[in-house]
Amino acid sequence: MKHTIEVESETLLLLDGKCDAKTQDEIERLKSSIAIAKDSSLPEREAAMVVEIVSYARKNGRLTYQHVQIKRCPCCNRFDGYWPVRRSTRFKTKGNPDHDHPKVFSAIDLGRGFLTFPNFIFIGYCESCKPRVEPVLLPLIQDLKAEFPKHWEAAPHKWKRYDNQKCNGCGWVGHEGQMIHLHAIMGGTYPGQCPKCGAQNVFLGRRNIESIEGFTMVEQKPLTIAATPP
Ligand SMILES: [Zn+2]
Ligand SMILES: [Zn+2]
Repeated sequence: MKHTIEVESETLLLLDGKCDAKTQDEIERLKSSIAIAKDSSLPEREAAMVVEIVSYARKNGRLTYQHVQIKRCPCCNRFDGYWPVRRSTRFKTKGNPDHDHPKVFSAIDLGRGFLTFPNFIFIGYCESCKPRVEPVLLPLIQDLKAEFPKHWEAAPHKWKRYDNQKCNGCGWVGHEGQMIHLHAIMGGTYPGQCPKCGAQNVFLGRRNIESIEGFTMVEQKPLTIAATPP
């Protein structure tokens, strides 16, 4: 029989070492948040977001760093309320808070995926808590095997993440980084050719090579400047 309840951190910690794997996983995250909060003087709620970000990066192999507008910060819980109703209607009175019109503010979405909701982020922080959170987060991601966007200059850029691929022509299995680049119609190139049999993915045409589950992390070698021969 299963139960769903909300418990305080102290109560959850009582189960430490005496529970199923899923609950223990939650407890480990809580213990990390408490340790980070203690070392950094971040509020526990914000330390929990730091733990969330690190585990998300590890699991997904990458983070995004996109500036967005949100109505509530998932990290510090900032909420600026609603704009007042501008004109009275049957349902709204001028001057009252307009619940269809929340005040939005700037934030950074670190976990942007295919599915997005307007003015909402799952993983990230707003401009108010960023100066507290980033100095704690950055040292923790320096050695992570994950890809961070180039424009996030303070993040490390040691790894690149490639989606795993399979060629339906010859059965080759590998990742996008091993595929041969083709010229795109709109300029530039894209990885579109099987390195083994030469089958191609053509724009709007047949897809011979398809994404399969999982990804591969490839270490980026630092650029070495070749010495010019005398
Ligand atoms: Zn915030
Ligand atoms: Zn092939």
